[in-house]
Amino acid sequence: MKEAYLKVKNLTKHFPISNSLFRRTGFVHAVNQVSFELYQSETLGIVGESGSGKSTLGRVIMKLIQPTAGEVIYKGKNIFNEPEATIRRDMQMVFQDPYASLNPRMKVGDAIAEPLLAHHIVTGRKEAREKVCDLLHTVGLQPEMYNNFPHEFSGGQRQRISIARALGMAPKLLVCDEAASALDVSVQAQILNLFNNLKNGMDLTYLFISHDLAVVKYISSRILIMYLGEVMELADTEELFSKPLHPYTQALISAIPEPSTRRRKERILLEGDIPSSINLPEGCKFQSRCFKAMPECVYTHPPLSEVAPQHYVRCLLYPNQAGG
Ligand code: SF4
Repeated sequence: MKEAYLKVKNLTKHFPISNSLFRRTGFVHAVNQVSFELYQSETLGIVGESGSGKSTLGRVIMKLIQPTAGEVIYKGKNIFNEPEATIRRDMQMVFQDPYASLNPRMKVGDAIAEPLLAHHIVTGRKEAREKVCDLLHTVGLQPEMYNNFPHEFSGGQRQRISIARALGMAPKLLVCDEAASALDVSVQAQILNLFNNLKNGMDLTYLFISHDLAVVKYISSRILIMYLGEVMELADTEELFSKPLHPYTQALISAIPEPSTRRRKERILLEGDIPSSINLPEGCKFQSRCFKAMPECVYTHPPLSEVAPQHYVRCLLYPNQAGG
């Protein structure tokens, strides 16, 4: 039995919405009762379309925003009851747009050194410079680039700088939110390989958030599929691709292009509209687009059930689990 490194329990985030008179009119139900365990040294991919709540989930786990309800247990404690400092060094985040997180008027070396000095990881400018040069080398950049400004780098190089900045804190967990999504395919592959090399060399644990199931498949040992703020399926990557159970997962997998023309598979096209996350349907959240929907899906909300060891699915098609 593997020991959980991080336990996410019933995590919920609802954003209030107001009318022009500042009266509360409802909530955006971004994340609803999400639970899972993250194991030491694994890469857990979180996949979902825009609006699935995956990025909000990542930000809540990083304590960048407070949850509406639920817990994240780290080292036996709920992080929302603990001071910021307890997690900030151990958990770091890499975002999609590195340019937005870098000060355009600051040399990249100084940008990487800044948190090292602020958190007293280094004691002075000289030590900071040596550490930054090491970090630049670790992420595949030249130490001489210390004095360059962000606009002098390509998108892929800027993402390497963001990664170096995160690694400076010697984190144990990296939450990567669409960290390779804005890059060209060839650069994307280089960044994914960098993530893999760093993981093995530094014993990192990843939460890898992306809308792209093919990218997540490449890097993850387990995959969690989200839809309208809920977990729809969670399984080992191999199991998920060989036996996808949820109709949504089946549709997502069918949409991945096959490199071989001989193995071309039938694409499942999802019809129907995605419901608003302000007015969620009563039964299954996927009912309006599901090609296997049954009458009971309209009023019965399926639970997330373990249908095989470590394979969880939220669907009434598995009758032995319904109503559990
Ligand atoms: Fe489709 Fe019903 Fe399963 Fe939802 S519960 S995924 S609507 S079959």
